[in-house]
Amino acid sequence: MEIQFYGAVRTVTGSQHLVRVNGRKILLDCGLYQGSRQESYQRNQNLPFDASNVDVLILSHAHIDHSGNIPSLVKSGFQGDIVCTYATRDLCAVMLRDSAKIQTYDIEYLNKKRERQNLPPLAPIYDLEDAVESLKLFIGIGYGRSYQLFPGVTLTFHDAGHILGSAIIVLDIADEATGRDIRLVFTGDLGRPNRPILRDPDFIDSADVLLIESTYGNRLHADIDEASDKLETIINETYARGGKLIVPAFAVGRTQELVYRIHQLVEARDIPPHLPIYVDSPLAVDATGIYRLHPEAYDEETAQFILTNHHSDPFGFDMMRYTRSTSESKELNFLREPAVIISASGMAEAGRILHHLKNNIEDPRNTILIVGWQAPNTLGRRLVEKQPTVKIFGESYHLRARVETINGLSAHADRQELLEWTGHMQKRPQHTFVVHGEEEAAFSLAAALRDEQHFPNVMVPELGQKFSI
Ligand SMILES: [Zn+2]
Repeated sequence: MEIQFYGAVRTVTGSQHLVRVNGRKILLDCGLYQGSRQESYQRNQNLPFDASNVDVLILSHAHIDHSGNIPSLVKSGFQGDIVCTYATRDLCAVMLRDSAKIQTYDIEYLNKKRERQNLPPLAPIYDLEDAVESLKLFIGIGYGRSYQLFPGVTLTFHDAGHILGSAIIVLDIADEATGRDIRLVFTGDLGRPNRPILRDPDFIDSADVLLIESTYGNRLHADIDEASDKLETIINETYARGGKLIVPAFAVGRTQELVYRIHQLVEARDIPPHLPIYVDSPLAVDATGIYRLHPEAYDEETAQFILTNHHSDPFGFDMMRYTRSTSESKELNFLREPAVIISASGMAEAGRILHHLKNNIEDPRNTILIVGWQAPNTLGRRLVEKQPTVKIFGESYHLRARVETINGLSAHADRQELLEWTGHMQKRPQHTFVVHGEEEAAFSLAAALRDEQHFPNVMVPELGQKFSI
């Protein structure tokens, strides 16, 4: 058996790992690489392997850094099945189309520049048609249902607790070349225990080969229980000032978690019951619909909440409003009363959130709430840093609104939670590959696995590196 790493090694985007076994090629994830515009364009368009030779793609979850290059793969000749959970398939149906729109929009912007420089126009990495075409290849299977990919190769998905539909991939392989049985476990992105909506990540008791993510391999998160308390305080304080709460949030995962937490606060009468809550993002509206469709993925607490409150919808209540059309979104500009507005993008780099920030940033009654990690050089980061003036749509605005941060909402296990998860393995893997983390995080987790848990052969692979097992 061979494993070759084509992305999300020593970085966090572009997850793609190719397993060659029993004459078959199994691709784990096909994520979009997100770096500088030129490098991303090259890497995402020119796949480093022959797509037509790949037999099957197994997808851990729908986030774009894991699924976003599927349309390229299909465009490049891949004809196999794309196997994932049902919820992942449904989320991909909206996310890949959204990604295609972004690709097309980006390239139109770039082509205008190129035209001025007398350069020929570029085609998008993929377009809407490519995204829709790729959806035809998806096959859904449930958690815990063993599925034979090929004779001698069985796939089982386990809960990863990261976003709706996210899975830990377990492959039980009878390796014809060596006559050995090999269990390969790929964590995908591993979530955290005790988060709302989703079940906790499943523990896997044995592996021969482990591919483990390391996004927070060198960091610890704030306590998860503090998040709702802090949310309650921030909502009430902003309401008391007569202000609005503006929340940039990722459309898939973070938005639904916030809505569910706010719903709990409303039911407990911890926040004013007449305070309107808006989710203003078409992608978030679509994604929330898919969250509603998959109660089989909810945890016990969410199931109980629905039962005890006689609600069939954890993401809907009297004052909850979802806005899809541009005109509805624009109407929010004229709101004079206190309100909560949750909108994308999560790092305030694009999307409708920019309009809401522009309209509300200079009013000291308002609060901007940051609920996720903000990359350097994004507007979100400048807001976290409380820079006195920031540029939105090319114009300068004074930051007079308050800025608050809730850190406990991460969807990734932190260092301690990762080590707790690996600590449950009764049979230590003979080969461990630490992926999906910046170098510092990946090496730090690798060292802990070696030194604290005595895992043998722990590697942090490089891009393109191949291992025989
Ligand atoms: Zn993810």
